[in-house]
Amino acid sequence: MTKSTIASLQDAYRTGATTPTAVATETLAHIEKHDSDINAFLDVYDSVLTQADAATAALAAQGEAAPALTGIPVALKHNIMVAGERVTAASKILEHYTGSFDATIVTKLKAAGAVLIGGTNMDEFAMGGSTENSAFGPTKNPVDPRRVPGGSSGGSAAAVAMGAVPVAIGTDTGGSIRQPASYCGVVGFKPTYGAVSRSGLLAMGSSLDQAGPVTHSVADAALVHEVISGHDPLDMTTITDRTYPPVAAKEHYRIGVPRDVLTTGVDPDVVANFEAHLKQLTAAGHDVVDIELPLFAKGLAAYYIVMPAEVSSNLARYDGLRYGTQATGETLLEVYERSRAEGFGAEVKRRILLGTYVLSAGYYDAYYGKAQAVRALMREELATVFQSVDIIATPTAPTPAFAFGAQADPLAMYQQDIFTVPVNLTGVPALSTPMGTVTREAVALPTGVQYIAPHGGDNRLFDLGRRAYDHTLSQAAA
Ligand code: GLN
Repeated sequence: MTKSTIASLQDAYRTGATTPTAVATETLAHIEKHDSDINAFLDVYDSVLTQADAATAALAAQGEAAPALTGIPVALKHNIMVAGERVTAASKILEHYTGSFDATIVTKLKAAGAVLIGGTNMDEFAMGGSTENSAFGPTKNPVDPRRVPGGSSGGSAAAVAMGAVPVAIGTDTGGSIRQPASYCGVVGFKPTYGAVSRSGLLAMGSSLDQAGPVTHSVADAALVHEVISGHDPLDMTTITDRTYPPVAAKEHYRIGVPRDVLTTGVDPDVVANFEAHLKQLTAAGHDVVDIELPLFAKGLAAYYIVMPAEVSSNLARYDGLRYGTQATGETLLEVYERSRAEGFGAEVKRRILLGTYVLSAGYYDAYYGKAQAVRALMREELATVFQSVDIIATPTAPTPAFAFGAQADPLAMYQQDIFTVPVNLTGVPALSTPMGTVTREAVALPTGVQYIAPHGGDNRLFDLGRRAYDHTLSQAAA
């Protein structure tokens, strides 16, 4: 099971080398053995073997005709609703909350035959970049347990990197799938905004959030995206095939590199890996050109206004009455105040305060209105650049995984998002794949390259990613 791709598991099912029941049994044993240390999982579902037996029976009865993910183990970030299972968003306020319905993506995964293994650890309500903000203890990076796995989908990335599951679903509001994928040496994909339904995801920033896969290969990410995406009447922001003009795959891509963004705060050996990767792309026949994206670096400032504004509004529902943990108080106001004071962690409170501030009457135009205007300009800037290039490439994150506690200053932590947040602000899709390692304290740590495509260009990213990355997996296996 360890580090198997979906494709290799499917082959093994086809030849009869193994069965979903055997794989699920191994998965449970693997988690039992390694996860007390790594802490990637907050829950492992009681139904795993029942689901796996059903998948084994389905494969025996239907063979090739069985649904796309039959018998494939999948882990879910703990902010994705599963009926009857605990869904905490790694917050004390939802510690005992049980999902009341299946998120649309969960319905789709079940229909595709996936075996849902359990819920993964994360930064509380997806706010953070290290999983240190979980109310239930951080996740360790399987590559170097002294270091963070990234975040906020750190549990999902670690679950794949530790070899527990071939697929984990994460959510990405400002980089939370791509950055942990980069830190853990796996593939992470953030779809075009609206490609995947948000129905049943615990909202962080509704205009930014998208769910996507963390996997070992780009081909696997493409397959899972195919299963979970699609228009959904339960989410009015989902798109259809006709929302954006078609974005075709090409034999050779024109790849734009915003060099001005690479100059500040990026570790020199990460830049060196990136330059080496660009050389490989050129050698493969792609055309790598310099581009200018002066607004790209402004994304961080705009994001840390728009996102907290949406957070403050989305998290207003956790009042101690409707969901989760309720504190006692003399008056209704005291119940609200104490439930929220006791239930939310420091980072969540910081963002609610910031968001409430930027939305308040006297400051709305100065902050929120400005940030939204910058966001509109960034979208125009990207649209212009995409008239002359097919894909934009950057490192996924400016550094490799850092040590626990190393980014205690929130602003230093926010800086990790410099390459990822513009993608969410503008709604375009992006893919992160491993691009070699850098050495810290005698350990080779993964780094990631991020490819960005125009709206609706998800398949173009899979095409380039497959060609540029997946063959290295078969080389490594050989
Ligand atoms: N690290 C970013 C933040 O803290 C991204 C979070 C996310 O994508 N959920 O907001």
